[in-house]
Amino acid sequence: MNTDLAIVGGGVAGVCAAITAGRAGIRVVLLQDRPVLGGNASSEVRLWILGATSHMGNNNRWAREGGVMDEILVENLYRNPEGNPVILDTILLEKVRAESNITLLLNVAVDEVEKSDAANIRAVVGYCSQNQTKYRVEAPLFCDASGDGLIGFLAGAAFRMGSEGREEFGEAMAPPRSTNELLGHSLYFYSKDTGRPVRFIAPSFALQDITAIPRYRDIRASDSGCRFWWLEWGGAMDTIAQTEEIKWELWRVAYGVWNYIKNSGQFPDAENLTLEWVGTIPGKRESRRFEGDKILTQRDVVEQRLHPDAVSFGGWAIDLHPAEGVYSNRPGCAQWHAKGVYQIPYRCLYSKNIDNLFLAGRIISVSHVAFGSIRVMATCGHNAHAVGMAAALCLEAGVNPRGLLDAAMMEELQRRLTRAGQFIPGVVVHDPADIARTAQITGSSQYVLAEFPPDDETVTLGSSRAMLLPVPAGKLPAITFLCTTTEATQVQVEVRGSSKPGNFTPDVVLHREILSLAPGTAQQVRIRPNVCVPADCHVSYCLLQNPAVSVCTSQSRVTGILALSHSQNAAVAKAATQNAPSGSGVESFEFWLPGRRPGGKNLAICIEPELHPFCPQQLVNGIARPTVRTNAWVAAADDSLPTVQFHWDEPRRIRRVEITWDTDYDHPLESVLMGHPEREIPFCAKRYRISSDERTLFEGENHSTRTCLMLKGAITTSVLKLEILETRGLPAAIFEVRIYEN
Ligand SMILES: Cc1cc2nc3c(=O)[nH]c(=O)nc-3n(C[C@H](O)[C@H](O)[C@H](O)COP(=O)(O)OP(=O)(O)OC[C@H]3O[C@@H](n4cnc5c(N)ncnc54)[C@H](O)[C@@H]3O)c2cc1C
Repeated sequence: MNTDLAIVGGGVAGVCAAITAGRAGIRVVLLQDRPVLGGNASSEVRLWILGATSHMGNNNRWAREGGVMDEILVENLYRNPEGNPVILDTILLEKVRAESNITLLLNVAVDEVEKSDAANIRAVVGYCSQNQTKYRVEAPLFCDASGDGLIGFLAGAAFRMGSEGREEFGEAMAPPRSTNELLGHSLYFYSKDTGRPVRFIAPSFALQDITAIPRYRDIRASDSGCRFWWLEWGGAMDTIAQTEEIKWELWRVAYGVWNYIKNSGQFPDAENLTLEWVGTIPGKRESRRFEGDKILTQRDVVEQRLHPDAVSFGGWAIDLHPAEGVYSNRPGCAQWHAKGVYQIPYRCLYSKNIDNLFLAGRIISVSHVAFGSIRVMATCGHNAHAVGMAAALCLEAGVNPRGLLDAAMMEELQRRLTRAGQFIPGVVVHDPADIARTAQITGSSQYVLAEFPPDDETVTLGSSRAMLLPVPAGKLPAITFLCTTTEATQVQVEVRGSSKPGNFTPDVVLHREILSLAPGTAQQVRIRPNVCVPADCHVSYCLLQNPAVSVCTSQSRVTGILALSHSQNAAVAKAATQNAPSGSGVESFEFWLPGRRPGGKNLAICIEPELHPFCPQQLVNGIARPTVRTNAWVAAADDSLPTVQFHWDEPRRIRRVEITWDTDYDHPLESVLMGHPEREIPFCAKRYRISSDERTLFEGENHSTRTCLMLKGAITTSVLKLEILETRGLPAAIFEVRIYEN
């Protein structure tokens, strides 16, 4: 076979790279050695796809990955809110098959690489035992998304395994000297209730003495799948060469844990449970990491360093595990978060010595410590989106991957990525071809932020609470909460901003006062900061902990505004405040977390002067999610036909309209196991119409983040209207509208 880009490995990374490259117009062959796509996210391994949102357990607000990764997660929510891994398989298969530029080869294990010279791959060769066919795929560009980096390895690409010593990159979290230690594999099981007692006879290879697992008291009969992430082993071994031995040990552990659940007498609630599924392919966390022109390090992550070639971002904690895994006396993981998301540079996404080899997935060019953060699958998918787009641009420009480092090329790559929904924090690249930016834009109305009226419920200040609000540069508005207490007391109130623009960690106190409260219900607690902020930003109006006080909540919700509490998500943090060990190079700070719908209600507030954070001009500001602003247009709640109109002085040719709707980038949309109570995001408009001044061009429904509408034929008009015909019960937000002549 001859193609433009050969991708080896159909995990989330390989899938996102393939779909992006195919859509960008190049021919792709995707070779996957297993029968379904998704790698560790597939029904064969069953890990939930996570990323920078970190289960909503850190301060990375509106940080879900964009582009193809987001498209997959939003579609999975729509079809599969129950989190059935088999359904996710079908979505990945369907999306890949839908791309006419992709040739998908399932069950083809690549085991050979042909080189054209020392620094270039000519072809990869693989075998499918199902049809007894050998495949040879020749291409100018290759992408290794195989997890273990077999292509890079066979091609002689520079790589590392184990942890760097502290000195090499000045990483305080690294061990004093380099080690061979890795993160281990895990293997999971699912159970189900049969409605009648089920007997379990353990296989002879099952672990007999459960106390060999120091954490055995944490085992619960109701847990399954990736909630048993800590059943991990093999980090002290060669996770490639010894992977079969590791798998046998993990089977020993998995069946031993199940034997304990069923037969120890400790779990009467397990009487009717049976094993429904046990993994046969272990999830692999770590093996080779390849070297690109840049190796991302702890300091890049924690200090949120900026890179001229940023094409993606990460935001999961630096999450490292003891090499002894399940048999270790130490906690199963140590997770250290940064104060916000960090950029990922393009130089980490190709090999430094094999000129036509892209890297995608967990093998990208990072230190062992930084790997602890970039390894999660939504980050892998988002990075791989950049790889797919870069491959298309390389072929168009006739350059190899490194050739895109030229400033103009890099800007073009960033432009194409952001157009395709990729979020690159801190990077705004306008598209001169987008004629929406040359139009006068008017909205039928805009949501004015004056108050969130109280409903009849309250929440206590058992923990500190806040409202996170977008404010314009200048004097901060006054905010009034409604508080109830039965005793005379005081509440400390604070207004907090962030030390870095674009972060949401409330680590800078801008205003503080102590207010007295007499016994009574719904009393006004007014925070009047006499403070100016130099630029638009989000600030938190905080009511500090006082269990004697409760605060009125509101039914109102609108994009870019959230209620937070100073709290902990035990899945990703040890406490509500990250207390970094001294000398660890990690920062200490508080977590202020939103709740998930239907919880996480806003607090009732009154805002003076009222704010106007939803003007329609934001539709063309080049940022398609809340950052320092809401970056959204939202119509007034009582607008019966929210309409935004683009008007040009001269008629313009229009062929294509691209819209970014609000599917709540704050929501992680975990892909499997964990169900979600809603299948559609309530801020996302349900039905809409696009029309010129004369006629309707399109009318239809939507539940996705992005709509790319190619009109049946080009039209010429001086007016284009977008009307929201039906919402999903909350004010619908739109982040971006792009309009193209072709
Ligand atoms: C136990 C465990 C828990 C984790 N927890 C999470 C979590 O909760 N959320 C999260 O997002 N991430 C989690 N991770 C990390 C994440 O799963 C991995 O970092 C991620 O899957 C790496 O993506 P990848 O595409 O590089 O590799 P993979 O997902 O492994 O995909 C690689 C694909 O390449 C295929 N392949 C390999 N060799 C060949 C070959 N020679 N020819 C053809 N195809 C080949 C494989 O079959 C596989 O499908 C966890 C990892 C493990 C192991």
